[in-house]
Amino acid sequence: MRVFEDLVLSSLPAEDEALRPEIRALIADTISQLPTDVRARSWQGFDAAFSRKLGRAGFVGLSLPKEYGGAGRGPFTRFVIVEELLSAGAPVAGHWIADRQSGPLILHFGTEEQRQFYLPRIASGEALFCIGMSEPGSGSDLASVRTRAEPQDDSGWLLNGQKIWTTNALHSDYMIALVRTSGSSTDRQQGLSQVIVDLKLPGVSVRPIVDLTGDAHFAEVFFEDVRLAPDALVGEEGQGWRQVTAELAFERSGPERIYSSVVLLDAWTRHVEEQARKDEATVRLLGGLTARLAVLREMSLAVTARLAAGESPVVEASLMKDLGTSFEQDVPELVGDDLASHPDEPIAAELHRALLYVTQIAPSFSLRGGTREILRGIIARGLGLR
Ligand SMILES: Cc1cc2nc3c(=O)[nH]c(=O)nc-3n(C[C@H](O)[C@H](O)[C@H](O)COP(=O)(O)OP(=O)(O)OC[C@H]3O[C@@H](n4cnc5c(N)ncnc54)[C@H](O)[C@@H]3O)c2cc1C
Repeated sequence: MRVFEDLVLSSLPAEDEALRPEIRALIADTISQLPTDVRARSWQGFDAAFSRKLGRAGFVGLSLPKEYGGAGRGPFTRFVIVEELLSAGAPVAGHWIADRQSGPLILHFGTEEQRQFYLPRIASGEALFCIGMSEPGSGSDLASVRTRAEPQDDSGWLLNGQKIWTTNALHSDYMIALVRTSGSSTDRQQGLSQVIVDLKLPGVSVRPIVDLTGDAHFAEVFFEDVRLAPDALVGEEGQGWRQVTAELAFERSGPERIYSSVVLLDAWTRHVEEQARKDEATVRLLGGLTARLAVLREMSLAVTARLAAGESPVVEASLMKDLGTSFEQDVPELVGDDLASHPDEPIAAELHRALLYVTQIAPSFSLRGGTREILRGIIARGLGLR
């Protein structure tokens, strides 16, 4: 089958592997004070100072060219850095979206002026970005986006509408928003564009949304007659759909789609070791989860190799996210069942809190970045079944 033929095993280049000691030392410095349940927040942990520290050390925007403040390295480098950050539970939310999506998007589709303005600040961990795709009534069905940027006489734009579920909008400097610049929502993919919105502009308001765990990671963002300069447009007018599709391949395939529960898995493994459990059920469970993680990591690397080759592997990235998030959701369930079936064992409070947190947040793993049903539709189409 075509999809599987395209996903060939790949290994990390030695120069990328060589980065591990330095990034590990930097992370250890920051996370040594953080309890397990805070580290279990994984890529939702926000710490702007840590993002700037990573930026100063050259670990943000690594894949951006040197002339824009990056390191001119490829997606494999980012894979190593992300893997180290997530497996330790470092607070990466500050620079995450800019590093993963906004930077590459501006590099690829932006004008030279936009590149020179935004990219060095992204690479230094200073310009924080959020993604404005979803709206009330337009989540999976992004083609129905209604937020509108009307062209003005001065060739700028007048922005009106609302976004929802915008991760980190409260802490961000900019949003890259998918908006309608021509036609109506019945025109579907036609007439959509991407614009960069400075969230400090008059007419922008951000209201936090508190999630099930009590955290307020995401927000509603309202635009009332927001005046955007002509250079707010990224890429071509009317090409927003094509640009967003390419962007989603970056969003869907990385280690973040397999490591969201890894701090919990690690803490549980340490618990099992401390209890000196060696019974068959424990060995099977630990071995099974480790084997799945190893296979998923190889798949994620194979998709990274396609991204490194400059391709946009939409189907493979969807496959990766569906399988990866299923694994991430199984971890809290299986760990919870295991601990419940050993009621006489003392459980560290931090492990318990991490388990409760990951159990509560796990349903969102298969929603954020595109729901499971939508991904399966993309995969089916890729296999020629739809
Ligand atoms: C933690 C978190 C962070 C997020 N961060 C961001 C962000 O930063 N920026 C942003 O823009 N969005 C963000 N989102 C929004 C996310 O991308 C949307 O929630 C998601 O795309 C689903 O859209 P929806 O919630 O409107 O659900 P809907 O699209 O209404 O879907 C509801 C259900 O119906 C199913 N469904 C819908 N259409 C079909 C179909 N055609 N066939 C089969 N089933 C279908 C879906 O799979 C889902 O199960 C975030 C979401 C979460 C949970």
